[in-house]
Amino acid sequence: MKLYRIKKSNIDRNGRGLYAIKDIKEGTRIINYVGKIITKKKTEECEKFDNSKPIYLFNLNSRYDLDGDVSWNTARLINHSCLNNCDYEGKGLKLWVIAVRDIKKGEELTCDYGFSYNSDYKQFPCKCGSKNCVGFIVREGSRWRINKKLKKIQRASR
Ligand SMILES: [Zn+2]
Repeated sequence: MKLYRIKKSNIDRNGRGLYAIKDIKEGTRIINYVGKIITKKKTEECEKFDNSKPIYLFNLNSRYDLDGDVSWNTARLINHSCLNNCDYEGKGLKLWVIAVRDIKKGEELTCDYGFSYNSDYKQFPCKCGSKNCVGFIVREGSRWRINKKLKKIQRASR
């Protein structure tokens, strides 16, 4: 049973997103995140993953990655939010998008993926509108660095 549909996104105004078409319980597998399974060797050699598309790349195990940047991967349309309602869950070579809390019919599905701090995160502003938004699409683990920076800027401008 399909739990989502594709619609113009409220977060990414130029793009599309996935929306819940019924209430979804926490822990539900919503959609399979599919793509090309590639070896880590290829990931390292391929320039594509250096900068523009790293957020579609998932680590499956010590040998393989999954490149989700393919047209048949509907789950790639899920937008980033700093206050996400979905997350990725891997099992073997399979990846799922699961609900991390109860989601109401009509809500946009969001995941908390992001670029690393080292990449040029300023190219990727975040418009998720959540209270804890840091303003850029950045991995949670790297976000404190931006918060620190923002605080500095605020202090300096006072
Ligand atoms: Zn945000």
